[in-house]
Amino acid sequence: MMERLKEEVFQANLQLKRYGLVTLTWGNVSGIDRSCLCIVIKPSGVEYESMSAADMVVVDLDGNVIEGHLQPSSDTPTHIELYKAFPAIGGIVHTHSTYATMFAQACREIPCLGTTHADHFNGSVPVTRFLTSSEVESGYERQTGAVIVERFNGLNPSGMPAVLVAGHAPFAWGRSAVDAVNNSLILERVAQMALGSFQLSQNLGAIPSYIQEKHYQRKHGPQAYYGQKKL
Ligand SMILES: [Zn+2]
Repeated sequence: MMERLKEEVFQANLQLKRYGLVTLTWGNVSGIDRSCLCIVIKPSGVEYESMSAADMVVVDLDGNVIEGHLQPSSDTPTHIELYKAFPAIGGIVHTHSTYATMFAQACREIPCLGTTHADHFNGSVPVTRFLTSSEVESGYERQTGAVIVERFNGLNPSGMPAVLVAGHAPFAWGRSAVDAVNNSLILERVAQMALGSFQLSQNLGAIPSYIQEKHYQRKHGPQAYYGQKKL
């Protein structure tokens, strides 16, 4: 069951390693099949080198393991909260990638400093608040998802496919598991460029909104014209 999605999620997890977004076994990718509301996610603590598609774990939206011989990622409850709240997304990635994590630790959002950012993120990449101690004690991973959802009140998760969890690290998502990995990689590059730009000019602000808007809309708007025409 779910062989195709297992293969896709497995390949997406390997891409995290290939792109240098994860250290050791940190990081996880999941994908969802909306027709059966089944999530396929990386097993917890398994080395990327020895992992296979058959090791991927299938869970339902209550976190019950439906299929798999290994424990699912410990971050599974966070993924579940996001899938429930953001019905348009099909894949989620969590990493502690270096530059995005630096911004999360500094509790600083990433403003749109250039068109690389504007091409992919519609506005500043947001930061959540810290979890309270009672939230940490009562379902930490699920509550992490809840504070992300809380932060997205008034934000469109399709236009902003990433978030920085305060004092923790980024989550990114997309239409599929592979799309989510791409957004995770773009976030890391944008964070790296932003840090360098702040080093060169400390009081830097976002580029003018009409440039942000032009770049975002030409790629993602209803009249998008970037890339090749779809037949
Ligand atoms: Zn983490």
